[in-house]
Amino acid sequence: MAPNQNGTENDATLVNRSKKEFVRDYPNANPYDTKAGEKPYKLEIVWRNVFLFLYLHIACVACVFYPVSGKVILFGFAYGFISSYGISAGAHRYWAHKCYKVTRPLYFILLFLQTIALQNCVIEWVRDHRVHHKYSDTNADPHNASRGFFFSHMGWLMCKKHPDVFKYGKRIDMTDLTSDPILRFQKKYYVPLVLFCTFALPITISMYFFNTPFWYAYHWHILRYVVSLHITWSINSVSHIWGSKPFEKDIKPTDTYAIGFMAFGEGWHNYHHVYPFDYKVSELPRYWCNFTIPFIDFFAWLGWAYDLKTVSDDMIRRRVLRTGDGSHRHSKEAAKQKTQNELIEEENNNINEEEEERLKQNVARIRDHYWGWGDSDMLEEDINDIRTVNPKTCAE
Ligand SMILES: [Zn+2]
Ligand SMILES: [Zn+2]
Repeated sequence: MAPNQNGTENDATLVNRSKKEFVRDYPNANPYDTKAGEKPYKLEIVWRNVFLFLYLHIACVACVFYPVSGKVILFGFAYGFISSYGISAGAHRYWAHKCYKVTRPLYFILLFLQTIALQNCVIEWVRDHRVHHKYSDTNADPHNASRGFFFSHMGWLMCKKHPDVFKYGKRIDMTDLTSDPILRFQKKYYVPLVLFCTFALPITISMYFFNTPFWYAYHWHILRYVVSLHITWSINSVSHIWGSKPFEKDIKPTDTYAIGFMAFGEGWHNYHHVYPFDYKVSELPRYWCNFTIPFIDFFAWLGWAYDLKTVSDDMIRRRVLRTGDGSHRHSKEAAKQKTQNELIEEENNNINEEEEERLKQNVARIRDHYWGWGDSDMLEEDINDIRTVNPKTCAE
């Protein structure tokens, strides 16, 4: 497929057409870099949200004056713990990335847990997350980590979204969720639903089952909520700044044990941005550093979760050797066996026309990552390489 310098007009047309296919309209990373015809970006602060977050953090400090019993602490911890599954297993792996399918009972469990987590309704959460994956760390990414730690952590929630988030967000298919009447119901009645599920319910339980006065229970559950927010936000900030990049070194997302453990397995973020459709969000099968895997595996055993997508070790190995930073065991093993030059030589020998075309497509794909299973940009070879755990032919 290499261009022929002395070729005919037809050859030239073909080459031009193939070049055009790989030219993508891609957002900038710096918010103040504007393209021709675009208005300069102006940061607009949403003061209502600034005061809201300020109030929530002051209320956390006020917990010192409202101590609660060990039982209430344990109850709040358990409530926060299960709400995390609403985000990791629900909004993230099930709704945003379509890593697996669920039966109706599990659908409603996940929806309840996602609501008590109070991180926006499923439709909004998923729209932000899919565009984050597709245009990671650019202006189209709602929490663009190229704008620094604070912005990607919580600053993005205190200012108006960059126009590119809307422009490129329109290209993300959301019809699977916007056509769901239950999710539309959750969006419409989100405020009363979260006020009841996130605060009224646990505060009432704390008052009537553990004899805790209202203001004591109120402050404790605010603290529980704010801690869970910071853990989720760390995935957008810490996991886009510090850590290793065993699977793809040219992107910002990283792998870290600390976030992997605290965020229920969501800290294997370099892996996750490369394989967003893997229900494990990691290649590590260990449950202790990925609490969401046993949760999904348990429901798969029960028959309530099925068609769990995961990635073969061979697929991982090929990717690690091609784009990893060398920190993965496959990279280290390969480095031991051969020098880098030998590897390149071997790779060059294997290249043929078909392979060249495939690599070209991969280069384009590295810029436009998948948002998950069902992304129309997914390559045939990736679809064919996916392994399905607990497959079922039954309808959802
Ligand atoms: Zn990310
Ligand atoms: Zn994700």
